[in-house]
Amino acid sequence: MTAQREWFEKDYYAVLGVPQNASAKDITKAYRKLARQYHPDANPNNAAAEERFKEVSAAYDVIGNEDKRREYDEVRRLGPGAFGGPGGGSFRFDMGDMSGAGGFGDLLNQMFGGARRNGAGVGPQRGSDLEAALTIDFVDAAKGLTTTLHLTSEASCSTCNGSGARPGTSPVRCTTCNGRGVTEVNQGGFAFSTPCNRCGGRAVVIEHPCGTCRGTGVEMRNREVKVRVPAGVDDGTRIRLKSRGAPGRNGGPAGDLFVICRVTPHPLFTRDGQNLHVRVPVSFTSAALGADIDVPTLEGDLVTLRLRPGTQPGSRHRVKGRGITADKAVGDLIVTVEVTVPTSLTKEQREALLAFAKEEAS
Ligand SMILES: [Zn+2]
Ligand SMILES: [Zn+2]
Repeated sequence: MTAQREWFEKDYYAVLGVPQNASAKDITKAYRKLARQYHPDANPNNAAAEERFKEVSAAYDVIGNEDKRREYDEVRRLGPGAFGGPGGGSFRFDMGDMSGAGGFGDLLNQMFGGARRNGAGVGPQRGSDLEAALTIDFVDAAKGLTTTLHLTSEASCSTCNGSGARPGTSPVRCTTCNGRGVTEVNQGGFAFSTPCNRCGGRAVVIEHPCGTCRGTGVEMRNREVKVRVPAGVDDGTRIRLKSRGAPGRNGGPAGDLFVICRVTPHPLFTRDGQNLHVRVPVSFTSAALGADIDVPTLEGDLVTLRLRPGTQPGSRHRVKGRGITADKAVGDLIVTVEVTVPTSLTKEQREALLAFAKEEAS
């Protein structure tokens, strides 16, 4: 069990020289300015600058991240006074045993639960899952395709291959915690295991940070990801690409990449699962007398559909097996008849219709 004791002690806002209500943009701006100023590359053999650089990075690591910042503010709001506790003899406890015990244990869980869940700065962390939208043509979505997705995201630093150490150097075992990642601290009569101050729980320290990623092992980069889109994907389908998300930290596994398919509409066809729908105009005489009509298909050829005499407007007719094929099943093509009424008539047509009307009325 670990406690983010550092959070009580360090005012990360002061470290970055921003007010507590600073916007995310201002925090990033302040961080960039200080990071440039104290970067080890700009201050060779300057231990004070390096220390300041680490402080600035540690501060930004927390308040530069919306979730962590919220937790940090909460922990700071509760304050270190919560640790006063009963004085006197020193005893150890395990927070795991205290959970659900009420009172003090609950308070500790409130304060540290969030930080522990996120594993802020401690041990290997899985990279986050990423989402990217992919726009696919209606016909491609029906038939499937392999395409390349372009995205800008966190990626393993290309300069140091994600180690965070300047090329030619490597992270070394932390001497403060002897490579354990945690140190024990006595506070208010309690002994806590807390993440090592020097290595932040990583068990190793990077003495010469990589200049590209500032020792994080991660950089924002344009990436190309090959995506195989299976036949029959629909608008909103999510395709999971395992381990293609953001890289993990401290040796943790990468997250996943979720590709969300955005299927563009087709001028003729719409979809309903694996069935295709199409509306076909039919003259009112064909509908009344019956006819063989041509129906377009997604493949581009025409199929013949036989309409019985007395076909009604809006009636639906099924062409078997001409829908979308996916998972070894094939849908149907559903044809909706739209009966059209002529807007102009020849003399003969008009006379024929008048005769029809007279016959109908009698
Ligand atoms: Zn790097
Ligand atoms: Zn350490």
